[in-house]
Amino acid sequence: MDKFLKNFCLYLSPVLFATQCAAATPAPNNPYFSWRTLEQAQEQFAASNAVVTAETCIFSNQTSTLIFHNNSRRVLINGVTVWLNVAPELCASGAGWKISAIDMDLIALMLQAKPADKPQPLKIVLDPGHGGDDSGAITPGRDLYEKKITLELARRVGKILRSHGLKVRATRDSDKTLSLNERAAIARKEKADLFVSIHANHAANINACGVETFILTPSGYPGTAEGSPPRGWQIGNKNDYNNNLLGYAIHKQLTGLESSFDRGLKRQSFFVLRETHCPAALIECGFLSNRDEARRMKEHAWQSACAEKIAAGIIDYCHKVNSLEVAVAEKRKKDAEANERWREYLAQKKRAQQIAKLPQVADNKLLPAVTTPPTPLLPAATVVTQSSQPAVTAAAQVQPLPAPENRGNHAKNARAENIRTPAIDLQTLAGNQVQSIATNIYLKNAATGTQPESDSESLKKLAEFYENNKVK
Ligand SMILES: [Zn+2]
Repeated sequence: MDKFLKNFCLYLSPVLFATQCAAATPAPNNPYFSWRTLEQAQEQFAASNAVVTAETCIFSNQTSTLIFHNNSRRVLINGVTVWLNVAPELCASGAGWKISAIDMDLIALMLQAKPADKPQPLKIVLDPGHGGDDSGAITPGRDLYEKKITLELARRVGKILRSHGLKVRATRDSDKTLSLNERAAIARKEKADLFVSIHANHAANINACGVETFILTPSGYPGTAEGSPPRGWQIGNKNDYNNNLLGYAIHKQLTGLESSFDRGLKRQSFFVLRETHCPAALIECGFLSNRDEARRMKEHAWQSACAEKIAAGIIDYCHKVNSLEVAVAEKRKKDAEANERWREYLAQKKRAQQIAKLPQVADNKLLPAVTTPPTPLLPAATVVTQSSQPAVTAAAQVQPLPAPENRGNHAKNARAENIRTPAIDLQTLAGNQVQSIATNIYLKNAATGTQPESDSESLKKLAEFYENNKVK
């Protein structure tokens, strides 16, 4: 069954896929949202191996493994939990797996970033959470405050980063009160390349434990927490790819801390993430509300290890950022080109629709005069014998109407002319109208053998009109 399902999925066309999935799952309320088929996702990830069941979808290549779960926003990337923007799904119609394009783009570019020999010498602003009047979380024994542990960790992280040649600033280096706005403003003032906010967690459930790292939610997608609504574009969203690389690099390290439970790389629109102009991440390095974790967090060995992990994540980012930014620039260029092609396609489609509407109006308004089957006009000589009006000779030069079976084509040709030069074409249609009226008059004359004065006058006027309009 697995093999059958896999093969079935691989051979589906994206169009068929999109059609079949459309009814099964409503897409997020986001105009830029799209799904990738399993085949497209595998290609993007350069998967050399794939194992697909109804519940799990595993891709691997030489360096990485992704494990997706049906209807779950959790994906395991090289053993590290990352929360997706949109849960992948297995279409009920049997059209196979679908994975959101936003998630595949973020994951693929992040994993493809190659480390440089030396870290990029970035300026990092570290933000020890809380401070002063704002203590943050407190241990059950009230012997450790979040504002204190975050300051201690930031000091340690800063020291390690400086030893690697990176420039480091902190939003605070003492127990002082700072608003969220002031923290983001410091990053702007310092022209920071990176902003990392350090926090400790708290929960009513005293068993809650583990590490989690937050980055800004991409515009138009809900945050990881239940019920967090999608937001519009924020200044931090210009760094979506960098945020993802930074958050993953730090979180991957943090999960290596002894006895740390991996709660995942999450997405939330926290103030310091959305209002900071540079790539940013917020770390929750453990639960002060959990007695075991709080006890560990008080130990210098843990503080040292945790600081090492945070610094290692930042340094990893500094090694990969250039490679990522090259790939992101290429992707944005391709996206812009694809958008341009799409705009051109839509413009052509609109023009074609306008063209399709034009001839109906032209045919109805300008070609209804002939009610009798059209026949060739009488030869000029015949006309002359019936009337000495010179105008008749001119009118007789009017070309015969096309045969009925050709009139459709004629209308189509007129339509084609309309597209290019509508002004000239209107003259042609006016000429057709003249022809139609003139033909009727000649047919009537031929039938009765007479030519009333009024008809002569009409023919004269028509001939003048015909000449003036240079209809051929
Ligand atoms: Zn906090």
